[in-house]
Amino acid sequence: MSGKIWFVGAGPGDPDLITVKGRKLLEQSGAVLFAGSLVDQAATLYAPTDCDIRDSKEMTLEEMTDWLIAAARQHQTVVRLQTGDPGLYGALVEMTQPLTAAAIEWAVVPGVSSAMASMAAAGETLTLPEVTQTVILTRVAGRTPMPPGEELEALAAHKTTLCIYLSITLLHKVQEALLAAGWPEDAPILVVQKASWPGEEKIVRGTLKDIKRKCQDEKIASQAMIVASPTLGAADWPDLIRSKLYDPAFAHRFRKATANPVISPECPS
Ligand code: SAH
Repeated sequence: MSGKIWFVGAGPGDPDLITVKGRKLLEQSGAVLFAGSLVDQAATLYAPTDCDIRDSKEMTLEEMTDWLIAAARQHQTVVRLQTGDPGLYGALVEMTQPLTAAAIEWAVVPGVSSAMASMAAAGETLTLPEVTQTVILTRVAGRTPMPPGEELEALAAHKTTLCIYLSITLLHKVQEALLAAGWPEDAPILVVQKASWPGEEKIVRGTLKDIKRKCQDEKIASQAMIVASPTLGAADWPDLIRSKLYDPAFAHRFRKATANPVISPECPS
């Protein structure tokens, strides 16, 4: 009989941002394999003192798989702890396939992704009524090529919120793609480094034109989220279009309208 391997999203860095379920699993774990320096705090804070805790930073996929399988043969609960959400740029399938082949049980616990944490840090919203109702989570091509149709220029043409991972060293490519897609040079851009990290978070606001220089001035070259969105800065707009959810004229499942009702089948926000 072997134990179960849990792929747990540790959240963006602040150990308080792991889910309750993720924390409970860490508290029960006999072995934890964590991904690099970003999430070690949660592991060391919540795992039992006799837990076998290992950093995967220098391991190959094969070494990680062997380690996880050996751990599952020894312990009932084994955690693979990953930054943000395990399903986003987390090499999840590469890791789960050999486990399935070895008849080891596994499951995924989602986590707060760094895109959400970055917007939260800046007090910004991902969506806004009649401005954008869509969020694209993407990256630009580095060593991993983008599949056809997913080039940033094509995605940016939608003028939705773009959360761009793994691309801070390729900021010039982001600038080129957005300009080519018709975003103006003065479009607001947000960069957040180490979102949610107590004492280490950096928030840089700029425009498409000057964001690269501002990031260079701040020496931001890793662990950063780039957000381009027509919602950025909305907290200061005087003429905001209100969400229908809290509009007195709008009725929904949980509230009657108090003026000229518009009935919705669902709850918008
Ligand atoms: N699974 C992770 C993403 C891993 S890819 C998630 O859901 O967040 C690594 C990239 O995520 C980094 O290059 C950076 O773009 C982003 N990232 C991870 N942690 C971050 C943080 N605390 N603040 C800002 N960006 C972060």
